[in-house]
Amino acid sequence: MNEVLDEGCRRAQRYLAGIDARAVAPSPAALAALSIFDRDIPDQSCAAGTVLAELDDYGSPATMASAGGRFFGFVIGGALPVTVAASWLASAWDQNAGLVVTAPACAALERSALRWLKDILRLPTATAGGFVTSATAANFCGLAAARHALLARLAWDVEAQGLFGAPPLTVVVSEEVHASMRKALAMVGFGRERVVRVPCDSQGRMRAADFPQVDARTIVCVQAGNVNTGGFDPIAQICERARSSGAWVHVDGAFGLWAAAAPGRAHLARGVELADSWATDAHKWLNVPYDSGLVLTRDQPALRAAMSVDGAYLSQDDDRVPYQYTPDFSRRARGIEVWAALRHLGRAGVADLVERTCRFAQRFAAALAQAGYEVLNEVELNQVLVSFGDPQRTRNVIERIQREGVCWCGGTQWQGRTAMRISVSSWATTAQDVELSIAAILRAAAAG
Ligand SMILES: *Cc1c(COP(=O)(O)O)cnc(C)c1O
Repeated sequence: MNEVLDEGCRRAQRYLAGIDARAVAPSPAALAALSIFDRDIPDQSCAAGTVLAELDDYGSPATMASAGGRFFGFVIGGALPVTVAASWLASAWDQNAGLVVTAPACAALERSALRWLKDILRLPTATAGGFVTSATAANFCGLAAARHALLARLAWDVEAQGLFGAPPLTVVVSEEVHASMRKALAMVGFGRERVVRVPCDSQGRMRAADFPQVDARTIVCVQAGNVNTGGFDPIAQICERARSSGAWVHVDGAFGLWAAAAPGRAHLARGVELADSWATDAHKWLNVPYDSGLVLTRDQPALRAAMSVDGAYLSQDDDRVPYQYTPDFSRRARGIEVWAALRHLGRAGVADLVERTCRFAQRFAAALAQAGYEVLNEVELNQVLVSFGDPQRTRNVIERIQREGVCWCGGTQWQGRTAMRISVSSWATTAQDVELSIAAILRAAAAG
């Protein structure tokens, strides 16, 4: 047993120790070698050491080095070493985190992590939550809680009767709604297209002036952190209008919600605490390993009802039973890494992580603008959009950067423009990483 665990640990350490020296994207040769995994199930067993060697020899070179400091694609983040180690320990525990009786330590750690999260994200003390796989799952759960709450007020038991014949609800989203929110709308039975779309400004923020009339049959989905610009909808204004009318406000704050944890950025998230439910990720800006999302809501009974197995939510026990807040019954104890990150960083460390990455984003924007390239967004958070000229030229530059391998940035479309997106979300990114990456980007841009 110890030999196998040591072997895994040794290989993981070697992988992480070498991450800054390699190209961020895997080489074509490493990708081609993945064909070793295209084979039939072996008839015979083989030694654990051989299994690990095969994983490491063929898997490791074909990874994206997103655990290192120079990956800026999508909004991904790395994993703090303490959270990787906590995850190993949690795997060794192999607890079924759905129940307190099967996983008492995990249940206690989740309770603690939730309490700390509410505090640093400045959410109401009554907020309840569930540890889910992703912000997509969290958006789904938030919508399910909203669906329960609004229909229950109309005397409709949606968990028992479903949506067929239910009183209709209206869903309001922005024109810039994230794809995962649309997916969640589809999964929860509201429909991707059956929505009212509010127009946005140049930063992807809902125009408050165009916000429709809402009532107690309306679910409003707002965004804290647009995936391209990092922009925030006018959440305070929207919540004030929604609350007086009885509408439910759900916040997709996959990464942007963390602005609330940094004093210098908290103004961006002003008013989020007035919403009814929130979705966020820990695997993005908190830098814990995958998979780790959080659904949070001020309406604990609604989430419990939406996630309950059979109406048992009516029982009035005080104990928080984890499965009552998530779609899963059995699951891994993903609250452990969240707890470890918060215990390690503390309030000041989370604030510093958010501030530091935002400052790096500003440094990217300033350097690229100074070199004469067009930065398409107001860089208030951790996202930077840059154009290198016409769409083909921008695509060429992105391709060259990815191929050279010093850093990795992806492409996106922003309000009709082709852009490169830089997302600074990793604890591992240093000032030196930023300077090396700026130099690489400018080299690629100069080559045309
Ligand atoms: C990343 C992201 C999501 C989806 O999160 P997953 O954890 O990938 O499911 C949703 N909304 C926004 C704004 C995001 O940036």
